[in-house]
Amino acid sequence: MSTIDTLPPLRDVIATHQLSARKSLGQNFLLDLNLTAKIARQAHDLNLCDVLEIGPGPGGLTRGLLAEGARRVLAVEKDSRCIPALNQIAAAYPGRLEVIEGDALEIDPLEHLTPPIRVAANLPYNIGTELLVRWLTPRDWPPFWQSLTLMFQREVAERIVAQPGSKTYGRLAILAQWRCDARIVMSLPPEAFTPPPKISSAVVHLTALREPRFPANAETLSNVVAAAFNQRRKMLRSALRGTAPDIEDRLISAGLKPTDRAEQISLEGFCALARALDA
Ligand code: SAM
Repeated sequence: MSTIDTLPPLRDVIATHQLSARKSLGQNFLLDLNLTAKIARQAHDLNLCDVLEIGPGPGGLTRGLLAEGARRVLAVEKDSRCIPALNQIAAAYPGRLEVIEGDALEIDPLEHLTPPIRVAANLPYNIGTELLVRWLTPRDWPPFWQSLTLMFQREVAERIVAQPGSKTYGRLAILAQWRCDARIVMSLPPEAFTPPPKISSAVVHLTALREPRFPANAETLSNVVAAAFNQRRKMLRSALRGTAPDIEDRLISAGLKPTDRAEQISLEGFCALARALDA
């Protein structure tokens, strides 16, 4: 039962608009509005910010964001069946919700948003990582957003916050942690969703740092990390052979052992290696 606004319960919204979940669109809906309001609270200071939401679906998280006081929400949804339900929410919160029907991978939301901007979403699993990598690798830093509060499959969330030495440590951890603070702030079991997915989920909150944690050229860092983790079981001197003819010297000048493997190297170590490669 909804306690956060006077709109109909989400089960009724889904029945009225015949929103049977489509797997092809990664549709697993959150129907508990107290839970969506709790997720919205993880984004902090909403009343001072515009919020970009990708994939609002029937609007559970959208309603959470608005009830928690978001200044404005821009919601981008690909499934045209959801638009009438979202327009009903817009009518209940005059001037605070803009709905765009379209593909989040194609749309530039910036012209519809006023800084400061936060991003909050229960992302469709099939484009979640791609969107995150785009948000983490803009041309200029700081990015357009102050924070990202994002629901992922638990396994992806663990890759974002992973530390050296763990199996999940890789390119996503380096990309995220180089220029952000990244934390898992909530865990959700499959039963929290309708229909329940096979796996658990988690909400990750990333806050953009003003400056990268360690100096490095973004492209060099991204390339060397990709090469190192592409062959994560190999020693760095072999995995990075194609990166520079004198790779062993460069590894040593970065303070790394050529016999180390990618998953043993800290973020600071990869940044030192990127600088050594550019020297
Ligand atoms: N936010 C809702 C919730 O929490 O109940 C729905 C989340 S559901 C996991 C993902 C949503 O993303 C669906 O509504 C789906 O239609 C939408 N979606 C899928 N691909 C999309 C895309 N490329 N662009 C925008 N929305 C998309």
